[in-house]
Amino acid sequence: MSDTLQYPTLRKLSGGVQNSLMEGPVKHTMTQSTDPTKPTEDFLQAATTLGIVFEPTDLDQLARFLALLLDANTRTNLTAITDPAEAWTRHILDALTLLPMLADLPDAARIIDIGSGGGLPAIPLTIVCPHLRFTLLEATGKKVTFLRETIAALGLSNAEVIQGRAEQAGQDRGTRNPDGSRTDGLRESFDVVTARAVGRLAVVAELTIPLAKPTGLVLLIKGQKADEELAEAAKALEILGASHAGTVETPTGRIVALEKNCLTPRTYPRRDGEPKRVPLGVPKKA
Ligand code: SAM
Repeated sequence: MSDTLQYPTLRKLSGGVQNSLMEGPVKHTMTQSTDPTKPTEDFLQAATTLGIVFEPTDLDQLARFLALLLDANTRTNLTAITDPAEAWTRHILDALTLLPMLADLPDAARIIDIGSGGGLPAIPLTIVCPHLRFTLLEATGKKVTFLRETIAALGLSNAEVIQGRAEQAGQDRGTRNPDGSRTDGLRESFDVVTARAVGRLAVVAELTIPLAKPTGLVLLIKGQKADEELAEAAKALEILGASHAGTVETPTGRIVALEKNCLTPRTYPRRDGEPKRVPLGVPKKA
């Protein structure tokens, strides 16, 4: 991948400005491709529009991932999308829309993807960003097995998979050293936290923000309800120590970017299931 991406960097996004950068949604021509090993013209065109220049092996690796995902999906429920042509756009391209926002990260920066499922958006990003280190956090055992096998099959040495819940990862403070400092905790240790399709924003905020460093970013792939969800999550962001940095329209949806401004209060995330059961800062319906 080159640095010639035409998206704004997060710094340019700051200020909460709504950015509509793309020429509109990708038109799905519904070209029925039965061969996941070949990227569609729609995909290649949209990737070019995003300014993505692939390294020679990237497309082969992305195709191998897609083939593994669709094959495993016949045995384990990983995705509702079974048409390879559609999957190139709705999975691979959708994941790669995050790329421009990762462009400024230094080598070996750490990214955690929450609720990775079948590996989206994390595996396509791991493939095209070998200089960054990815952690995939997933609660379900069968999905974790798929993720581990896929990472091994693709030889992705810059990714690791953790089986567990975000509520526990967010409270993992590691080991206390004799001098009082701590090592190896997951809490507040990542430069960027990503998530796609893990729940509404007020819920995902509590699952993601505690894992970001105090200067870190949270990038959430969202759909058309992004603004509505953001308004609902306003109080949660304030409590958790983050603010809205901007929303970017992409060819496949919207990315909501959150900036962390300070440490998250230690009581968050709450215990397993609580963020979803009682979303933080959202008034209960009468
Ligand atoms: N991100 C993937 C995608 O976009 O295709 C998977 C989305 S799937 C709808 C949601 C995933 O999040 C599931 O695999 C589920 O097991 C996982 N998940 C939900 N809540 C979680 C939590 N609290 N901690 C870790 N994983 C969670």
